[in-house]
Amino acid sequence: MQYNISQLLRCPVGEVRHYRVEGDVTDVDDDPQPIPVQGTVVLTRTNQGVLVRVEAALHSTEECARCLAVIRYPLQLTFEEVFYPTIDPLTGIPLPPPPEPEAFLIDHNHILDLSEAIREYAVMARPLQPLCRLDCAGLCPQCGANRNLMPCACAEPPPDPRWSALWQLGALE
Ligand SMILES: [Zn+2]
Ligand SMILES: [Zn+2]
Repeated sequence: MQYNISQLLRCPVGEVRHYRVEGDVTDVDDDPQPIPVQGTVVLTRTNQGVLVRVEAALHSTEECARCLAVIRYPLQLTFEEVFYPTIDPLTGIPLPPPPEPEAFLIDHNHILDLSEAIREYAVMARPLQPLCRLDCAGLCPQCGANRNLMPCACAEPPPDPRWSALWQLGALE
C-alpha cells in the first residue's frame, strides 16, 4: 500500500491519480495475523500535499458480545486525509513539518504509505458490541450453555410478583 508519487508532486494542483489498494495491515485487532485489505484510492495534488480518498474493505476478528464466539467482522472504510511532503519535490530541500503533529507524511523518497492511515481507520471502525448474528441467543446466565446450540434446562427467572398481581386483576389484557 505504498505509492511513489514523485511525478504527482511535480504536477499542478488538481492533478489526479487512481490506484488500487491491495495489501495487509496488522495491529487492528487482537489477532496477530495480517489482515488483507482491498480497495481503491484517489490521489489529488493540493497546494499543501496530496489528498487521498480511500475506499477499502477488510475483516477484523471479534468476539460476539453475547455468546463469545470468534467471528470475522466486515469493516468498510471511507476516508480522506492530506499527506504532507517532507522535502520539496523540485529542490530536494527539507520542508518544515505540517501544522498538525498527527498529520500523515510522504517520506524523503516520495513514498506515500497508506498502511498506518488504513490501520487507524480500521481500529475506529471496529464494532463496540459485535454480534455473531442479530438474534444471537447468547450464553445462559445460570449454567453458561451456548443457547444458540441447544436450549438448556435452566428455568427462566421467576416473574416479578407485582406484574403477576396485575395479570390476575386483568389490568394488562
Ligand atoms: Zn453470538
Ligand atoms: Zn442454563
